[in-house]
Amino acid sequence: RKRDDVDVEALEEGVAQLDAKSSYTSFADLPLSAPTQEGLKSAAFSTLTDIQAKAIPLALKGSDILGAAKTGSGKTLAFLIPVLENLYRAQCIGADAGLGAMIITPTRELAIQIFEVLRTIGRKGHLFAAGLVIGGRGLKEERDALSRMNIVVCTPGRILQHLSQTAAFNVDNLRMLVLDEADRILDMGFQTDLDAIITYLPRDRQTLLFSATQTKRISDLARLSLHEPEYIAVHESA
Ligand code: ADP
Ligand code: MG
Repeated sequence: RKRDDVDVEALEEGVAQLDAKSSYTSFADLPLSAPTQEGLKSAAFSTLTDIQAKAIPLALKGSDILGAAKTGSGKTLAFLIPVLENLYRAQCIGADAGLGAMIITPTRELAIQIFEVLRTIGRKGHLFAAGLVIGGRGLKEERDALSRMNIVVCTPGRILQHLSQTAAFNVDNLRMLVLDEADRILDMGFQTDLDAIITYLPRDRQTLLFSATQTKRISDLARLSLHEPEYIAVHESA
């Protein structure tokens, strides 16, 4: 057997044994692939924040998640680690594997920040192809790049443009959808774009929705885009 197969089997077993109810404090205690552990170490991330401790075990196990925690609480790693790990265990890696994860965030600046964090924790041996689709390049150039990506970080308007205009943009292999800063996505008027994007995606996928606030519109969006989600809210401690 290939070494990767053995790694994946051990990780699957570790994830199966994860107790989503218990509280993990250190990344080293989680069943994460060696490249992710190395990436976290190289960036000096060792202790999980509250939202990460609550969301990551459930997300590794495949649950849909609605996570609310204030700005600065560490939501980026709460979704990037499950994205890397769930795609890794599925061996959704390389040009033939297709697009496995789509991360939607409201602004180009936020997309670039997420991409930088992804690069930081992903560069220690992960072989995923990841890219940005935020409209900085021509549509054709972006489309060619998209066809080789396993993970895309994007803004709603631009990715919808590709979904609706590019016949060759295949999302059949998409396993994970992340809606980051969902409250801001809605505040910026992207509700109809988001609804349209979701109609293009496979129904059988995992969706992680993160927001700084909890509102009626967020729960409406959750009802449309999530399947039996786990609700996680982190409140400020006194
Ligand atoms: P949010 O999206 O909730 O506003 P971010 O994901 O942008 O928060 O993280 C806020 C800051 O916290 C960033 O500077 C990030 O590097 C840092 N951070 C995130 N997780 C950890 C962690 N586990 N340990 C130390 N610092 C962290
Ligand atoms: Mg954020």
